[in-house]
Amino acid sequence: MAAAQQAQAGGRGSRHLIGRCLRNHWCLMAFPVTRLRRLRRTDQLRNLVRETRLTPDAFVYPMFVCAGEGVRKEVRSMPGVFNLSVDEAVKEAREVHSLGVPSVILFGLPDKKDEVASGAWADDGIVQQAARALKREVPDLIVMGDVCLCEYMSHGHCGIVKASPQSLGAAARDAMNTVRVVAVRSSEEKAKAIEAATSPLVAHASQTNYEIDNDASLELLARTSVSLARAGIDIIAPSDMMDGRVAAIRRALDEASFTNTPILSYAAKFASGFYGPFREAADSAPQFGDRRSYQMDGANLREAMREIELDIEEGADMIMVKPAMPYLDVIAAARDRFDLPLAAYQVSGEYAMIEAAARNGWIERDRVMMESLLSIRRAGASIILTYHAKDAARLLA
Ligand SMILES: [Zn+2]
Repeated sequence: MAAAQQAQAGGRGSRHLIGRCLRNHWCLMAFPVTRLRRLRRTDQLRNLVRETRLTPDAFVYPMFVCAGEGVRKEVRSMPGVFNLSVDEAVKEAREVHSLGVPSVILFGLPDKKDEVASGAWADDGIVQQAARALKREVPDLIVMGDVCLCEYMSHGHCGIVKASPQSLGAAARDAMNTVRVVAVRSSEEKAKAIEAATSPLVAHASQTNYEIDNDASLELLARTSVSLARAGIDIIAPSDMMDGRVAAIRRALDEASFTNTPILSYAAKFASGFYGPFREAADSAPQFGDRRSYQMDGANLREAMREIELDIEEGADMIMVKPAMPYLDVIAAARDRFDLPLAAYQVSGEYAMIEAAARNGWIERDRVMMESLLSIRRAGASIILTYHAKDAARLLA
């Protein structure tokens, strides 16, 4: 007999049972004594018992800064998000701050790109200019600086690219040469035959015949971080996924007397298809290959915990999981295991999907926007980087 039924039946035995139920969580009274809908009846009741609350002070608003004046160019795949010149970025930052959003994170679109990402660490780099202007005009706003090299590299990778020791293309061409030489008559025919046979291999090789040089990239990342701190950036946020970069950045900041500048590490950043629209916004798509040799495999939760652990050991003050909604389990596991402030990045593709579906009339935009942010918060992120920051803050006001 269920505990509730016994309780309803009355008598000594049932009182004993009720007492036991109060002491033991596993022994819950069932329907009809228990009705969970009682607390869902009105807005006021639902509000009273709400477990997770969204507030604008959890939000960080990402901004893309470009050269020029009066520039406000909408990102095609991210309606409502703009490339902004420094003067426009200041206006935008004022608005963000007035809505109760405490922080922005800056990404730069440099005029020129090269093989050493000089735009990332130059004193007059675009983010450095924007940081100085923002700290002057909106001093209370926390300005984070994303630290990566891809936006500033001509090849669009997050570190220094070097050739692999062995060229797969050359090896394949040699091999095919030996095979084909007996089957053709003239040298012209032979060249054609080799070309035909090897071109798929060579095309493949041109994508794999390079490496991102981890250790050489650290120096540039450290130099960029110091340059950003010098320009007034409050929080350094490395997103490159090179091993050892948090330690290298911490050391460089300390040596340059920025001992009080915290590091928010993109600790578990997954190689994700959800970054697509960002690459248009920041003009940072790799010119060849992809980022799977340094960003994380989306299948690996335990490895994400190792990444976070290492960044904490290296001196990260805060940690981040990116993207957010497809990786809520990673956020929850990180919250469970680590006690540092935990951020999550609701990335461009997450934003674009909501906006696109809403524009088609397929979903209720505001409702889905708030639900997605709530889910990230509920999973355990206390800080959310989101392109929806302004609109969500308006709804929460
Ligand atoms: Zn990058």
